[in-house]
Amino acid sequence: LVPRLQPFTSTIFAEMTALAVRTGAVNLGQGFPDTDGPAGMLAAAQEAIASGVNQYPPGPGRPELRAAIAEQRARYGTHFDPDTEILVTVGATEAIAATLLALIDSGDEVVLFEPYYDSYAAAVALAGGQRRVVPLAEEPTGRFGLDVDALRAAVTPRTKAILVNTPHNPTGTVLTRAELTEIARVCQEHDLLAITDEVYEDLLFDDREHVPLGSLPGMAERTLTISSAGKSFNCTGWKIGWVCGPAELVAAVRAAKQFLTFVGGAPFQPAVAHALRSESAWVADLRASLADKRTRLSTGLAEAGFGVRIAEGTYFVCADVRPLGFTDGLEFCRALPEKIGVAAVPVQVFTDDPDRWRHIVRFAFCKRDEVLDEAISRLHLLR
Ligand code: PMP
Ligand code: GLN
Repeated sequence: LVPRLQPFTSTIFAEMTALAVRTGAVNLGQGFPDTDGPAGMLAAAQEAIASGVNQYPPGPGRPELRAAIAEQRARYGTHFDPDTEILVTVGATEAIAATLLALIDSGDEVVLFEPYYDSYAAAVALAGGQRRVVPLAEEPTGRFGLDVDALRAAVTPRTKAILVNTPHNPTGTVLTRAELTEIARVCQEHDLLAITDEVYEDLLFDDREHVPLGSLPGMAERTLTISSAGKSFNCTGWKIGWVCGPAELVAAVRAAKQFLTFVGGAPFQPAVAHALRSESAWVADLRASLADKRTRLSTGLAEAGFGVRIAEGTYFVCADVRPLGFTDGLEFCRALPEKIGVAAVPVQVFTDDPDRWRHIVRFAFCKRDEVLDEAISRLHLLR
């Protein structure tokens, strides 16, 4: 393996899920739902397979899906031409990798906020770029927010892009319009590209609002907006994602993407088009149900003795293990399945500064209530 990929041999999700399977633990580590997406979407995929939508789709994606994505993005006041400004990808993961491969040259710097989703650091390395990491700052309320001074300090003459994830995995933070406005200002002052990961755009609680960075004034021409169907419609295994942005930038991403996978997921594309167009009531129910699950697991963790942080969106909640007498989240997560039969994920592995995050672990709450209750009752055994 080439040196620049050596830090990325195995993912924490694979490690913790394997451990959960081996020990029969309740898996609140890797984030994937244990119920299916909307019945109409599942039927649309089956119908597409039965009616022969089984060969290569067009390079940019099936037209009905690109049209549905354009309609969905219009709800934020952003407008993309489905023919030139939208590209369907194999999940957001491929969209992120293809975007970085297309736009980051060797030695270019990309700003990431930590904790960062694991694929960002690996994809920057694949592209031969360097990451500059800005920690989200813990506020007195237990929210992790933007530290704009730290962001400004991270930008150098070699900085090419800032990658922004909101709603944020793993902290559950939903960046506010004010925070995003600060990020937009930095992008414009330093003529940077913005790459956004909005895969949790529908999963936010307590009447919070998702603000795409690309919808802010002066940002459309410099932003590539990435999202996918996996989280909004409980179909993480379908891997249908997309990237939207100015035609020239999307054409560049397509040039890289065509040699990664060329295309993917033909029969799932019309099903996701159906979901984007017709399943907003189902998504509203999902959001309400996840808000309850957020409260259920957060309360359970607090009663079990954890220091629980605020989950404003996504399906993750972060918790401090120190009140229970532990100091290292990675050690804690490696022992937990054997010890009490629950799996979680340590946040330090998503950072360049493990000491700062050592005490924080992440639990997923996209599970049936009885599964969450079983996990909570086991977590009480830690006392
Ligand atoms: N970004 C974030 C923040 C995620 O949590 C995930 C899913 N785990 C992805 C991207 C990947 O999305 P997809 O499954 O569509 O590739
Ligand atoms: N996105 C999911 C998570 O954060 C899992 C992704 C993966 O397994 N690569 O837990």
